[in-house]
Amino acid sequence: MTVKTETSKCLNYINGRWVASDSDELITVTNPANTDDVVGRIQKSTRDDLDQAVSAAKAAKKEWKTLAGADRGKFLYKTADIIESRLDEIAECMTREMGKTFPEAKGETARGVAILRYYAGEGMRKEGDVIPSTDKDALMFTKRAPLGVVGVITPWNFPVAIPMWKTAPALIYGNTVVLKPASEAAVTCAKLFECFAEAGLPAGVVNMVSGPGSVIGQGIAEHADVNGITFTGSNQVGKKIGQTALARGAKYQLEMGGKNPVIVASDADIDLAVDATISGGLRSTGQKCTATSRVIVQSDVYDEFKEKLVAKVKEITIGDGLKNGIWMGPSASESQLNTVLSYIEKGKQEGTLLCGGNRLSGEEYDKGYFVEPTVFEDITSNATIAQEEIFGPVLALMKVESLEEAIELANDVEFGLSASIFTSNIQKMLSFISDMDAGLVRINAESAGVELQAPFGGMKQSSSHSREQGEAAKEFFTSIKTVFVK
Ligand code: NAP
Ligand code: MG
Repeated sequence: MTVKTETSKCLNYINGRWVASDSDELITVTNPANTDDVVGRIQKSTRDDLDQAVSAAKAAKKEWKTLAGADRGKFLYKTADIIESRLDEIAECMTREMGKTFPEAKGETARGVAILRYYAGEGMRKEGDVIPSTDKDALMFTKRAPLGVVGVITPWNFPVAIPMWKTAPALIYGNTVVLKPASEAAVTCAKLFECFAEAGLPAGVVNMVSGPGSVIGQGIAEHADVNGITFTGSNQVGKKIGQTALARGAKYQLEMGGKNPVIVASDADIDLAVDATISGGLRSTGQKCTATSRVIVQSDVYDEFKEKLVAKVKEITIGDGLKNGIWMGPSASESQLNTVLSYIEKGKQEGTLLCGGNRLSGEEYDKGYFVEPTVFEDITSNATIAQEEIFGPVLALMKVESLEEAIELANDVEFGLSASIFTSNIQKMLSFISDMDAGLVRINAESAGVELQAPFGGMKQSSSHSREQGEAAKEFFTSIKTVFVK
């Protein structure tokens, strides 16, 4: 694959039209593998732009919710077909924009298509129950009502999947949408909105407004006509959005950080555990909220696991994700790179470096934000790199004697998104399922796997205790109406 150098200028999508911001200002988005490559320029929008989008979504909501679910579904099927026909182009844009490798970007774009189709079908599934009334002459049942206008605020690490797993259920349950993409993933997001536009959704049903989080994101949280807000991103921003929404009585849902453990028990399939730790921890350069970051290993298999892990980590090929044979791309931005490097420096003080530990330099790397995959050992649970989310390709090994100790350590963080264990012992599996405080609990599988038809979300500080995806999405994107007919 050759790198294209075309640059797109992305407009906002408001009320069925592509429009420039009133600000006349643009934000430049560059390729983290090569900062000479300008991927696009996005609108630096203002609150006035946001007001226009919210007004359009508000005006469209009555007609949209009145459509049969099956008819709303047709628009989602059509959008899915259009995205599928542009899959390589959208995936290439994603790789250029935020750095994940082209095969991963293709997989994610295909996931976006599958999410749209899953929710398209939801338009024809049941939306309530008949509940016997104590009055013999009455019919009592429940139905679902949309929230109205839903504000969607998304991060840069899954530029297709996250916008889709929020927007598709919002739409199918009869809501209209105003989406603010992450500034570092807005060019890819604009392509998704081209697909919605081509599918012919009525004007105002989906709107996209790009711009600074503190202006457009906070504006969505504050806007009196936004009835629900769904957010994925950092804890710091998420909590502020939640407080703002709560203060004005809007419904909100927050998906935030993780500090996900893998436990390698003494009876684990060590080769499987090594591969899954590498895949779960280092794919997408560690920039998944479900990425493995703490590796808790029972002492009798510690040395074998460590040797195999370090040997394989050293084989990882790093570079521009559009090139063949590259397994790991760059950090997504300069600030992300600097954060990762500062945690690596911290790790060098807190433990022992086993491999990696540097920013990569040389011809292939100098114009990008490349960092070596890094493994530490001798990390204690109170170490910064054992407690704070790094969002980079960094693993911390921790040695334990018993499974009990392993689970205690695994739970000794403020987050609770995903956790996995490698063991062949059924009793250990059952203890882990029961005692691990995480929204995703995975046995003999990496921490970073997510399926679109199952609930997704975290415990403790990882979420607002709500769930996304699968049938769980209905709980956020609708309210229950209890109907009594006599
Ligand atoms: P972020 O800084 O919180 O940004 C997320 C979104 O919020 C972006 O669209 C951002 O806009 C916007 N935003 C920024 N400041 C805002 C403010 N003051 N008010 C309202 N919105 C604001 O997070 P990120 O750096 O994009 O993503 C990395 C984080 O996301 C990590 O902590 C990761 O764990 C988390 N994450 C969680 C999940 C999950 O499902 N649990 C999934 C993926 C990522 P700008 O881009 O314009 O700043
Ligand atoms: Mg940010």
